[in-house]
Amino acid sequence: MPPEPNYSSWFESIANPNERYKIDEVVYTDTEGGLLQVSHDIEALRQSPPEKWRRLFDERSHKTVWPFGSGVWGKKELVLPNISNKNIVSMYEGHTNLFWAERYGRQLGIEDLWIKLCGNTHTGSFKDLGMTVLISMVKEMLDRGRDIPAVACASTGDTSAALAAYAAAANIPAIVFLPRGKISVAQLIQPIANGAIVFALDTDFDGCMEIVKEVADKDGIYLANSMNSLRIEGQKTVAIEIVQQFDWNPPDWIVIPGGNLGNVSALAKGLDILIELGIIEKKPRIVCAQAHNANPLYKAYLRDFEVFEPMAAGTTLASAIQIGNPVSYEKAVDALRRYDGIVEEASEEELVEASVRADRTGLFNCPHTGVALAATEKLVDREIIRPGDRVVIISTAHGLKFVESKVKYHEMRLDNIDSKWANPEISLPADYGLVRDRMLREIDSRFKGNVR
Ligand SMILES: *Cc1c(COP(=O)(O)O)cnc(C)c1O
Repeated sequence: MPPEPNYSSWFESIANPNERYKIDEVVYTDTEGGLLQVSHDIEALRQSPPEKWRRLFDERSHKTVWPFGSGVWGKKELVLPNISNKNIVSMYEGHTNLFWAERYGRQLGIEDLWIKLCGNTHTGSFKDLGMTVLISMVKEMLDRGRDIPAVACASTGDTSAALAAYAAAANIPAIVFLPRGKISVAQLIQPIANGAIVFALDTDFDGCMEIVKEVADKDGIYLANSMNSLRIEGQKTVAIEIVQQFDWNPPDWIVIPGGNLGNVSALAKGLDILIELGIIEKKPRIVCAQAHNANPLYKAYLRDFEVFEPMAAGTTLASAIQIGNPVSYEKAVDALRRYDGIVEEASEEELVEASVRADRTGLFNCPHTGVALAATEKLVDREIIRPGDRVVIISTAHGLKFVESKVKYHEMRLDNIDSKWANPEISLPADYGLVRDRMLREIDSRFKGNVR
């Protein structure tokens, strides 16, 4: 066998590619304060032909050989090659299923519609994909003798859940800063259960972000937000996985909700490396979907990205994307330019309606997925997405983490939203006759003349 090429990766300034840092350095930004990215020795990776990569990734899928059975670490060479397998902290994240949304798609007039259920994972959101990489690297750095007292993040709820779980598994102290009262009960209980130090601050996400940057800067606490580009390396595997799930054929469209905009950047970065290695040729188009109440990227898009104005994010049921000053704005613009991108927005009513209607076809959507569904519906209506196109919508979290708004909808208690599809429970005495009458009436009214 020929010797394995020597793969390597490092941090690189986006603005100035000559500014580089070792992958085990504690560094988040370049000398100008701009974001870094992880870069790879593409020439070394190219020594293997595309067929070899495809075969290798397929062979590792769904096996238990440590750590390659993970959807992220199955692509270790493209993610973080220089880390010892014994330091990898993994819960076998990734490999989430693609749901063929046949019935919902038919309602929209498109047949080839798929929902990538990234919430079907350990902590219930795609954040696991990035956190396994970040915590593994922290463990590796500790192993190499670096002093890291704790790992911290600001969060709209899902990052903190992932951080707390992976840190607990690795026995590394975790600190989370949450905007008080702005996250769901499920999201709050996750870091509490996992033993993280949980701060609920009287501010919004952007305010928590300021605090975490300060403790990272002044107290040497390791920053776990997505401005840490290690997270992006894990999250980019979602693109690789989608393509792999279609036998290495890219879809026409990928629709993704965006808040801090790390994930849309990650999606593009995953596609980039597939193209660079010749694993795919066709480029899907990317749609980033924002809630109307927190839509700085959408507003910039309307002006061809010539001006960017951070905003104070208004309240949205899509609380994980209630962000007015996205850290990864520049990366996202770059990503959208490379993938002929579109930014679309959804009002509260639109995101709830889309999510609820899709639920009726067997899904169980979180509000952020609702934003992506609503954006897709608009693009289909405008005939930008065509009936024959293959479309993948990224569902970012499990609906069970966000039941509060769903409960309110079905109890018809959501402000300014008429709960057209409300399906409240029916309370009756335990009497056969009453139950039977009502049952038959319900079957009749709900399913008669319905297109199945
Ligand atoms: C974090 C998160 C997002 C947004 O991802 P960004 O990288 O911040 O754009 C969307 N949906 C859910 C459920 C999330 O947890």
